[in-house]
Amino acid sequence: MQRPIFMLVSGDARRLDALRHDLSRRYEADYQVCVGSSAAAALTMLAVLAGARAEVALVIADEHLADVPAVDFLARARSLHPGAKRILLMDHGDWSPGHPAVLAIAVGKIDYHMYAPWYPLERGLYPAMTEFLAAWDKSREPSFAAFRIVGPANSPRAHRLRDDLARAGVPYWSFDDSSEEGRRLLREHDLEGTPLPVVLARDGTVLVDPSHEDLLAMLGLPSALGTRACDVAIIGAGPAGLAAAVYAASEGLGTVVLEPEMPGGQAGTSSLIRNYLGFPHGLSGDDLTMRAVNQAWLFGASFRLGAADSLTADGAAHVVHAAGGQVEARAVVIATGVTWRRLGVPELEALVGAGVFYGAAAAEARAMARQDVYVIGAGNSAGQAAIHLSKYAASVTMVVRGPGLAASMSSYLVTEISKTANIRVRPSTEVTGGDGQCSLETLTLRHRISGATETVPAAALFVMIGAEPRTSWLPGTIERDDEGFIRTGRDLHRAGELPAGWPLKRPPLLLETSVPGVFAAGDVRHRSVKRVASAVGEGATAIQLVHEHLRAEQD
Ligand SMILES: Cc1cc2nc3c(=O)[nH]c(=O)nc-3n(C[C@H](O)[C@H](O)[C@H](O)COP(=O)(O)OP(=O)(O)OC[C@H]3O[C@@H](n4cnc5c(N)ncnc54)[C@H](O)[C@@H]3O)c2cc1C
Repeated sequence: MQRPIFMLVSGDARRLDALRHDLSRRYEADYQVCVGSSAAAALTMLAVLAGARAEVALVIADEHLADVPAVDFLARARSLHPGAKRILLMDHGDWSPGHPAVLAIAVGKIDYHMYAPWYPLERGLYPAMTEFLAAWDKSREPSFAAFRIVGPANSPRAHRLRDDLARAGVPYWSFDDSSEEGRRLLREHDLEGTPLPVVLARDGTVLVDPSHEDLLAMLGLPSALGTRACDVAIIGAGPAGLAAAVYAASEGLGTVVLEPEMPGGQAGTSSLIRNYLGFPHGLSGDDLTMRAVNQAWLFGASFRLGAADSLTADGAAHVVHAAGGQVEARAVVIATGVTWRRLGVPELEALVGAGVFYGAAAAEARAMARQDVYVIGAGNSAGQAAIHLSKYAASVTMVVRGPGLAASMSSYLVTEISKTANIRVRPSTEVTGGDGQCSLETLTLRHRISGATETVPAAALFVMIGAEPRTSWLPGTIERDDEGFIRTGRDLHRAGELPAGWPLKRPPLLLETSVPGVFAAGDVRHRSVKRVASAVGEGATAIQLVHEHLRAEQD
């Protein structure tokens, strides 16, 4: 098999030769390093490689090209090799705000930048290459699969399994049961006629029509909650809950984290979080999640599978109840975030998981190759999903109720969307219906001003129309605003007075709810910022306040 290619382009012969040398000595066994001394020469080579169906992994262009601006060259390289990661090689120390790299990254013309000189190699070149190659590898069909799923490709069950595996960052292959490979796998494992889908693990384990819990247990998440006692119970393992878990466990508190899904929350579904501090090229939600889960686990936090369904008091202790048991804790951090608002179109609700998805763009993107897909929503998450899907789908149409995106989306995303040729925005439009036999086939769109309706072919619909807090399980003693978000700290005061029923002399602490010792962090909180970094910050802060509460309790 032909090795994937690194294409290097620079007009500076010494620089080109040095980069080729440094990359070849480390990567030659797996990759072929090709060089071009000008953009024109490199584009000719890239066109030949595209014709020969050769796989190009990385295109690295020196910012000083004589014939074409390097950023434009990289944009053209994308049209020939859409899967290749594009990297601008820049001189160290040029952080001028108008540098072409700034806009190019914002509008998706390039993926990364790196600096010359790149020495010492182990710090200046190879870690960056590992990052680029990992991202490239993730965007293609995995060369290795820890799990194989066989079942009707469009069934909600198979979608759920794919979503779980994608969120766990586990490489998998999925085969329709009517495909040749699907039939062969079923035959070889003596599974013809069994309920589908089936999951075949590399270690030989076979799960027939597994429940969500079965799969999560196989991925290593403990299932039963049982009855347990701890210092702090953290409800929800999104960024806020995971940060709380890391800080609580690392500071010696006995910590139980309760979560009914793969950890990660909304952030876990994001293909690229670009504004998280310290990751200039962004990081994926599953990467962030798995790092945080490992960190919390290494500090001693205990993860349990289950959804909290009520919160009661037993003397000074708080008791969190879930289907599989209960946890008794001296303090509780509620970090249950928000859930997608439903579309409320019955025909489309019937197709959820079969072409209609709430979030889930990261898990389904690869399956959208050459399809026409729709995204409803005008927030940052909808914008990110559209950009991610545009790398695979033939076309992405954003259906927006308002006049445009500017009022609700970060401007860097609005700019990137406007520069992405295969994304179209349909303002003042809503989805009023849809149809499909086994999975979504058509959508009905209605123009909100003219009232005109239109039926369009659609392979998939990704719904991202805002969020509701997950607080319906809480008792009335936990005060919430009209939309259900939890009030904390000063937001509990009425005309400077302590909240009614507050039993202590001290006022509620910054993130404390109307029940002493119960805290809220992240998106679930009234007036929260709705960002990964702020959820993480609140999770960490909540633990400081837990300490303060526990100290005061002992005094
Ligand atoms: C697709 C997408 C892309 C995004 N991109 C960005 C970005 O680039 N930058 C950025 O800053 N922000 C981004 N956001 C927003 C960001 O992800 C959220 O602000 C952040 O995840 C909030 O974290 P959280 O922990 O408060 O809540 P959540 O992430 O909502 O997590 C809550 C967790 O609680 C669990 N839970 C719910 N109910 C219960 C219960 N009863 N018992 C136990 N557990 C429960 C849920 O399953 C979930 O895992 C994005 C959001 C989405 C959806």
